[in-house]
Amino acid sequence: MSGRVVIIGASAAGLTAAEALRRRGYDGKLTLIGDEPRPPYDRPPLSKQILAGTWEPEKVLLRDEQALGGMDADLLLGQAAAGLDVAGRRVRLAGGRTIGYDAVVIATGVTPRRLPGTDLAGVHVLRTLDDALSLRAQLLLRPRVVVVGAGFLGAEVAAVAREMGLEVTMADPMPVPMHRQFGERIGALIAEMHRDHGVGVRCGVGVARFLADAGRVTGVELADESVLDADLVVVAVGAVPATGWLAGSGLPLGNGIECDARCQAGPGIYAAGDVASWPNPHFGVRMRLEHRMNATEQGIAVAGNLLGDDKPFAPVPYFWTDQYDTKIQAYGTFPPGAEVQLLSGDPGERRFAVAYGDHGMVTGVLGWNASPREVRALRRLVADRTPWTALPSAAAAAEAAAAN
Ligand SMILES: Cc1cc2nc3c(=O)[nH]c(=O)nc-3n(C[C@H](O)[C@H](O)[C@H](O)COP(=O)(O)OP(=O)(O)OC[C@H]3O[C@@H](n4cnc5c(N)ncnc54)[C@H](O)[C@@H]3O)c2cc1C
Repeated sequence: MSGRVVIIGASAAGLTAAEALRRRGYDGKLTLIGDEPRPPYDRPPLSKQILAGTWEPEKVLLRDEQALGGMDADLLLGQAAAGLDVAGRRVRLAGGRTIGYDAVVIATGVTPRRLPGTDLAGVHVLRTLDDALSLRAQLLLRPRVVVVGAGFLGAEVAAVAREMGLEVTMADPMPVPMHRQFGERIGALIAEMHRDHGVGVRCGVGVARFLADAGRVTGVELADESVLDADLVVVAVGAVPATGWLAGSGLPLGNGIECDARCQAGPGIYAAGDVASWPNPHFGVRMRLEHRMNATEQGIAVAGNLLGDDKPFAPVPYFWTDQYDTKIQAYGTFPPGAEVQLLSGDPGERRFAVAYGDHGMVTGVLGWNASPREVRALRRLVADRTPWTALPSAAAAAEAAAAN
């Protein structure tokens, strides 16, 4: 492949795709376009070390200046792509300039979903480094905090705010935190962990509206008409794929850019990271993952396919979250209604591993403060498509392998 590859979105997936292309010997022209003015940085620390103030902001940068220069790419930062001409193979930037391509990689990620009232003073979302820095500055003023949304992001923010000694309540319409990710049983343990740390957990009741005085938030009214007083509200109710700029392009847009199994969405057009959906042949279902590891793996896979690998992308997804002194690591998928089986440890002691099973197969494994080595070994149960009935012997073999 020669000519020009244009990558849109200069973050985890886009940067990885660019580097993978060069590593694989692509020596044509390369353009990396990102609408954030900062050089590429990592997002997981934003709701952990950056919010807690234990890392300097520079530590989240994914590459130093020398490494970025070494990529031999035109790095257009602070510039948004505003349109894609699929037939003419051109990207249009917000300023009007157009750039021709032979292949394009779309890695524009997601943007936070908003609720009516998100524009009030005192209401925050968290996606960018600037979001994290401004949220931390406000947390230092010791506000009463309400976190709306108890997914991984809301739960991580609640944990950090609570560890700063603040009064924190987390509200979510689902029955337990992280219900969508891990279901009822693990969610109940997450609720218990937050309550043990002194967070008010108001699950099973949605938010009706934000209360405000002179344009500043003063509280959150829940659907049962109870009111949570607040000086600061964090809205963490999920995110939507950043595809607005592709309206009218003719690309298949649904829940993200709908690619084929090779992560291709059109002629010379590929997508990677949070914005991409594709049918994962390993599980036989279409997925769109908002997982850091997937951004890297899919960026590499797209670079390979663009250079002719012609390989379906069939990863076992990996996700982790850190809350207080707990690390949850998870491989695979965790469908609603899946069976859950304890593999090792003791949930009462807050150190264990479980398997999830659906349609007679192991679909996921989850470690709660389990060693990374053990969880990595258990990943095999998902990768090997272990039948649910073979779980005890397969898990014992994986545990034995991890111990040696
Ligand atoms: C606070 C936080 C904590 C997280 N913690 C974890 C965690 O613990 N574990 C985990 O597995 N995952 C975590 N994630 C998810 C993980 O960070 C994402 O999966 C990963 O960043 C996805 O990378 P990406 O490159 O696909 O998208 P992004 O990182 O969103 O990057 C997309 C880039 O494209 C830019 N862009 C958008 N539109 C345009 C346009 N039109 N033109 C040009 N540029 C554009 C965006 O501004 C952005 O810079 C976390 C995410 C956040 C926000």
